[in-house]
Amino acid sequence: MAEVTLVGGGLSGALLALMLARKGVRVTVYERRADVRSDRFEEGRSINLALSARGIHALRLVGLDEDVLARAIPMRGRSIHPVAGTGSLIPYGRKPDEVIHSVSRRGLNAQLLDALARETGVAVHFQHRCTGYNLRTRTLTLRDEAAGRDFTVDSPVVIGTDGAASAVRAALMQATRMNYSQEYLEHGYKELTIPPAADGSFRLDQNALHVWPRGGFMMIALPNPDRTFTCTLFLRHHGTPGFDQLATPRDVAEFFGSTFPDAVPLLPELADEFFRNPTGGLVTVRCAPWHHGGQVLLLGDAAHAIVPFFGQGMNCAFEDCEVLLGLFDACGGRWEEIGPRFFAERKPNADAIAQLALDNFVEMRDTSADPHFAVKRQLEHRLEERYPGQFFSKYAMVSFHRVPYREALERGRVQDRILMEVCSRVTSLAEVDVDATFARLRAAS
Ligand SMILES: Cc1cc2nc3c(=O)[nH]c(=O)nc-3n(C[C@H](O)[C@H](O)[C@H](O)COP(=O)(O)OP(=O)(O)OC[C@H]3O[C@@H](n4cnc5c(N)ncnc54)[C@H](O)[C@@H]3O)c2cc1C
Repeated sequence: MAEVTLVGGGLSGALLALMLARKGVRVTVYERRADVRSDRFEEGRSINLALSARGIHALRLVGLDEDVLARAIPMRGRSIHPVAGTGSLIPYGRKPDEVIHSVSRRGLNAQLLDALARETGVAVHFQHRCTGYNLRTRTLTLRDEAAGRDFTVDSPVVIGTDGAASAVRAALMQATRMNYSQEYLEHGYKELTIPPAADGSFRLDQNALHVWPRGGFMMIALPNPDRTFTCTLFLRHHGTPGFDQLATPRDVAEFFGSTFPDAVPLLPELADEFFRNPTGGLVTVRCAPWHHGGQVLLLGDAAHAIVPFFGQGMNCAFEDCEVLLGLFDACGGRWEEIGPRFFAERKPNADAIAQLALDNFVEMRDTSADPHFAVKRQLEHRLEERYPGQFFSKYAMVSFHRVPYREALERGRVQDRILMEVCSRVTSLAEVDVDATFARLRAAS
């Protein structure tokens, strides 16, 4: 029986383990943290993620899509909150099923681990941190965090699903000629909570992703099943405004009061949470190759961490699992063939979604409050309606149609240029010649 060791039992690790186990592979997973299903798991806050077509499709392959969606909250568009005046909803799609879904990170991980526990031939070791991998002896070094004990295990095939700060990737970098770069944004992020209203209801429209675009920075909020919202403030680490300037509760109150006035009454624990919760960094990790000699492979954030502005990091990691599963079959389980083919297929797509995510930050924080952007979105929907199967917006290609990221990037750039040019000259969709715009798009593609 084939054997594989996975380092990291997070989102992609748990899904991949499940997929491989169902192929008859004996899988051992080492996960640094405590079991997310246990009381020992330290994360108390609700943290959520946007799940879309790629992630759903991969979950369908293991029969978990319906269970996961049953606990998810559909979000049908961006609800824009200006500094003053009333907001607006910019729908993501045209059809009722063109929505994205807010899921609990912990809940999804728990659902995957529950499914994994029902498989035979799988061992999951929590609180086991990988500290290295010796390519020559094919041994993994681990620390049992609960027992305070270090040990090694023979692991002829290792897959690193251990996230953006991957220990498996670090071992590959030490021993092989791997190229590597990490690029931090000058922005960081902080999570805050909007609790339910006194009567237990949501305090904002629960079927939307809320955005407070402020040009250069922004805040967003996604709904949770417990009727809270998780807000994420994306702000420069240093600058005006910047996290470094928000040093006291008074600074925070003044900044939020002038910048996000409608959010202030929704955030009763603002100052406490602001100073209690960490400020996270936002990094794009690129490396190559992602494999070594049929022995080590990287997948998910370990291979390609991206910034979160297209809501695709997990979706891309789940699509990685799906592609790897297909190659496992196509290559008859021969890892020395799977690794190079996986890398060749996924690397251009991972680079493309990394770029799309960076571009989307600019769109979300700077242009989504621009009235021309709302017209652009309406025009995209009108084009999709009038030219079904011939026109797909960039957002739809990425989030609803599973068009390869590389193609979505190329086609999306041409689209954005033409559509923004058309929309910058008008104030409403009625002024746009939709057929002439389609002809221009066609000629340019
Ligand atoms: C603020 C924010 C918002 C996001 N929003 C979205 C979104 O809306 N939609 C979306 O699709 N993506 C989103 N993402 C991205 C998403 O979180 C990641 O792409 C996804 O979690 C990647 O899954 P993974 O399994 O590769 O890595 P991870 O989820 O990071 O899992 C890695 C696992 O490996 C374990 N581990 C790490 N080191 C070791 C070690 N040395 N030994 C053993 N185990 C180890 C970790 O404990 C963890 O369980 C967001 C990310 C951030 C930061």
